[in-house]
Amino acid sequence: MATQMAPKEVDAATARAAVAAGALLVDVREPGECALAPIAGAIEWPLSRVDDVPAALADRARPLVLICAMGSRSRLAAARLAALGHVDVCSVAGGRVAWEAVADDSATGDPGLDGWERQRYARHLVLPEVGASGQLRLKAATVLLVGAGGLGSPVALYLAAAGIGRIRIVDPDLVEASNLQRQVLHDEAGIGTPKVASAAAAIRALNPRVVVEPVASALDPSNASVLLEGVSVAIDGSDNHAAREALNAACVRAGVPMVSAAIERFRGQVSVWWPAAPGHADAPCWACAFPAPAGVIEPPSCAEAGVLGVLPGILGSLEAAEAIKLVIGTGESLVGRLLLVDVLGMRLREVRVARDPACRICGGRA
Ligand SMILES: [Zn+2]
Repeated sequence: MATQMAPKEVDAATARAAVAAGALLVDVREPGECALAPIAGAIEWPLSRVDDVPAALADRARPLVLICAMGSRSRLAAARLAALGHVDVCSVAGGRVAWEAVADDSATGDPGLDGWERQRYARHLVLPEVGASGQLRLKAATVLLVGAGGLGSPVALYLAAAGIGRIRIVDPDLVEASNLQRQVLHDEAGIGTPKVASAAAAIRALNPRVVVEPVASALDPSNASVLLEGVSVAIDGSDNHAAREALNAACVRAGVPMVSAAIERFRGQVSVWWPAAPGHADAPCWACAFPAPAGVIEPPSCAEAGVLGVLPGILGSLEAAEAIKLVIGTGESLVGRLLLVDVLGMRLREVRVARDPACRICGGRA
C-alpha cells in the first residue's frame, strides 16, 4: 500500500543546484544500469530495495535528490521515501538524460563562481531572475553605503550576505550604547569604536570574501564624487538632510542611482532617485521631491523624536532589496515612486514623483 503524496519534481538545473548546496544525490536505478552509465557523485539505492534504508540515508531531514534513467522510477521512490518520513525529497524530471544535458552548463556556465560560491549562493542560483549571471554581477559590484546606523545595518548585512563584491561604507560616528536598540550591525563590545570599524568586522564575519572599505568621515560636497568612484549603486542610510543632498548631487552628476530611505518614530519612506534611469523619461532626483536646501528644513533626529527599533530594519531591508535588483538589473525598481511605510497602523502606500524641470540639481540635465 503506497501513501499517495505528490512527489516533488524539479528540473535538472535546479537539482544540480540543490546537490551543490548539500543535498544527497541518490541513483535509484538497478546496479547493472548504474555500472553501464554511472552518475558521478550519486549513491546507489535501487528502487527494488527502497525499503532497505542505507546508513547514508538514516537522517530523514537531509535533502535528497532522486534520479533514475528517465524520471519515472525516481518519482515512485520519492513518494515512498516521503511516506517513510523523509521531509525534503525531490525527483529529477527527465532523469539522467536531463541531468547530463545540463552538465555542460553547470561546468562552464558559471565561469566566475567557484564551489564555495555555488554552495553559498545556491538559493540565488536557482532563481531565474538571479542565476549565475546575476550572482556574478553582485560579485563585480561596488556599492557605496552612506551611514552605518539603523538603516545602514540591514543594508550592510544583506548586501554582504548576498555576495556584493565591495562595500564602501562611510560614517563619522562612534558606536554608542543608545544605538544598539536598532543598529544591529554593532554590539556591546563595539561601544566607543568607530561605526565603520565595527561594521567592517561584522561584514567580514558574515562573508569574508566581501571587500570592505571603511571611511570614517562624513560625506559632504567636497568628497562625495571621490567616494562615488567605481560605484554602481549608492545607498543613503544617513540621518541628515545635508549628507543626502550632497550624495544626491554627486549621484546626479555621475548618473548613479541613489537608493534612499528616511525614518521617524513609526514611519518611513524609501525610493530610488535616478534621473538617468533607462526607460523612465521623467525619473526624478531626490531634490525634485525635497527641494528645500539643507538647513531650511531639517527633520527632527531620532534622538529628538524617537524611533521604533525595528523601523530602520524594515526600511533598510527595502533599500537592500532595491540595491540588489538594480545591480542585477531585474524587477521593477522604485524609480519615480515614493513608498511610505507606517508601522504603527502597518500600512504601505506609494506616491508617484515626477522630475521637476526647474529642479536646482537635475533640472535640464535629462
Ligand atoms: Zn531633480
